[in-house]
Amino acid sequence: MRDEAAGRDAADPLARYRERFHLPEGVIYLDGNSLGALPKATPGRMAQVIGEEWGDGLIRSWNDAESGGAGWISLSRRAGAKIAPLIGADAGEVIACDSTSVNLFKLIAAALDMQSQRDDDARTVILSEAGNFPTDLYMIAGLERQGLAERRLAERDGIAAALSGDVALLMLTQVHYKTGAMYDMKALTAAAQKAGALVLWDLSHSTGAVPVALNDCNADFAVGCGYKYLNGGPGAPAFAFAARRHHERLAQPLTGWFGHAQPFAFVDDYAPAPGIDRMLAGTPPVLGLSALEVGVDLVAEIGIVPLREKSLQMGDFFLTCMQQMKLPLQLVSPPDGADRGSQLSFRHKEAHAISQALIARGVIGDFRDPDILRLGFAPAYLSFSDLWQAADILRQVVEDREWDRAEYRERAAVT
Ligand SMILES: *Cc1c(COP(=O)(O)O)cnc(C)c1O
Repeated sequence: MRDEAAGRDAADPLARYRERFHLPEGVIYLDGNSLGALPKATPGRMAQVIGEEWGDGLIRSWNDAESGGAGWISLSRRAGAKIAPLIGADAGEVIACDSTSVNLFKLIAAALDMQSQRDDDARTVILSEAGNFPTDLYMIAGLERQGLAERRLAERDGIAAALSGDVALLMLTQVHYKTGAMYDMKALTAAAQKAGALVLWDLSHSTGAVPVALNDCNADFAVGCGYKYLNGGPGAPAFAFAARRHHERLAQPLTGWFGHAQPFAFVDDYAPAPGIDRMLAGTPPVLGLSALEVGVDLVAEIGIVPLREKSLQMGDFFLTCMQQMKLPLQLVSPPDGADRGSQLSFRHKEAHAISQALIARGVIGDFRDPDILRLGFAPAYLSFSDLWQAADILRQVVEDREWDRAEYRERAAVT
């Protein structure tokens, strides 16, 4: 497999993008699905934003380039417009802002508000998947406490059957954070809408790795993450999508001044901005948005379709390595690449210790409770030789029981 990896690297049209990222010596980074790698262009851009735009431009930098400023005021919209083609949306339908959690809250509340305007009985049920990413499930709780929502969970294969007449919103994560399993967005969106529900997709593990077709699927709402495959940096702003057909009626509850139609008119009463800008609440984090924009530009330059092609090849290649090694790790991701995102997860009762032993050997993946070893394949900067090496080190760690040391059992705050 080593030669095969070298051959694939030689033929890889994306191989040249590896040098556009900073990757530390001696590390094979299989956690780009949790925190993407640093684009080499980011530090320079940050120095420019801080030194020139903030340092020299000061308050003037809020205004657009035409008036001699840096255009901070349109940064949220600009970054959103660049994310839009990666997820099959139009430029004015996506805005970069806040965190994924906060955007979930705003859009869940907006969907409930929309459903409360219906003539038939008000629907308040938010249907989601048991075992969805925790924040997605937790963000419903605040609305539940206020009596606005009722959470209902179904198992993955029971979602369609759970779409009863009281469901206001179906909220799903397209690519599951733990297993990488990917939903059929088009079919589920259609089924939910047929049942009278709106649909909100969390694209955190899709964006930048899998081409998403929100509008082709007639999706209503979506959110996604800036610091995973978009390489926007730790805590990067997230994004929110609302289909254009909903903009006029879109009422999100965090009615801050940046979502106002005229923030600098300083009037007493709130009036939502037209279009997707009404998703904004407060002053946007310019430094974070600037770093995010560099990451998004790079993903857009590489191209989401070639990224997906390489990602599929990487998954299959790693699985072949694993099959040949016959290790006692059980694949929990879908075996068919078409059914998963850009990761492979394996079950082993010592998964935590194994992930720690791998990190000690320079192979950085991660562990998800209770027994999942999660390996993400960011196609923009990984080579097939990286994967072969990672598989070989995993073999040594497992066969030689390198994981069997007390220090590998301790859990850090972030796993
Ligand atoms: C990573 C991730 C998030 C992150 O939410 P934050 O608000 O950025 O902490 C949310 N949902 C899913 C499905 C994720 O994978």
